[in-house]
Amino acid sequence: MRIGVLASQGAFVEHIAILHQLKVETLPVRLPQELMGLDGLIIPGGESTSISRLMLGYNLTNEIRNLAKNGLPILGTCAGMILLAKELSDLDVEPLGLMDIVVRRNAFGRQVDSFETELSIPVLGEKPFPGVFIRAPLIEQANSEVETLARLANGIIVATRQGKLLASAFHPELTNDLRFHQYFLDIVAGHC
Ligand code: GLN
Repeated sequence: MRIGVLASQGAFVEHIAILHQLKVETLPVRLPQELMGLDGLIIPGGESTSISRLMLGYNLTNEIRNLAKNGLPILGTCAGMILLAKELSDLDVEPLGLMDIVVRRNAFGRQVDSFETELSIPVLGEKPFPGVFIRAPLIEQANSEVETLARLANGIIVATRQGKLLASAFHPELTNDLRFHQYFLDIVAGHC
C-alpha cells in the first residue's frame, strides 16, 4: 500500500510520521506526477487559502478531483477537510468539491482558537479519541450520503465519511492515537 501526503503547506510531516509508525509506504506529493500509483491521499491541516492556491498553481486540483472521482480514497484533516467540501461559507478558497458537506472556516472564534476535547467516535471503538482543534472549521451541514462519525458535546459535526472520503475538523496526526489513520487505511484496503 502506498499513501501520498500532500506536502504543499501545513502539517504534512506529522502525517508522514504516523504512516511510518503504521509501517505504510509514504510519499510526499507536490507535483501532479507524484499522484500516480497512489492507493490513498492525505490532505493535511494548514492554511486552506495557501494550500488551495498552491494546488491550483501546481496543477494538482483537477488531477486530485479526477482521481477521487475514480475512487482514490482521500483523508482531509482540518484545512484538508475544508478542501474536500462541496461548499464553503467563505469565498477565499476554491475547494475540491468532493464531499457533500458545507464547511465554515475558523468557526470557533478567536477566544477559543484551539482546544482539546475527548471525542466519541464509535467506528474507532469505545475508547474516546483525543480531538485536537486548531483554528478549526466545522461542518454546518452533511447531506444524506454522508455518514457522521463524530460530534462535539453540543452536537456540532466534526468528522464525516462519504464512500472512500474521510474528513476531520481535528488533527489526529498531532496525537499518539493511531486509530483514525488506521481507519483510513482500512478504507483504502477495502476492509470497511
Ligand atoms: N484555519 C485554517 C483554515 O481555515 C485551518 C486550520 C488548520 O488546518 N489547523 O484554513
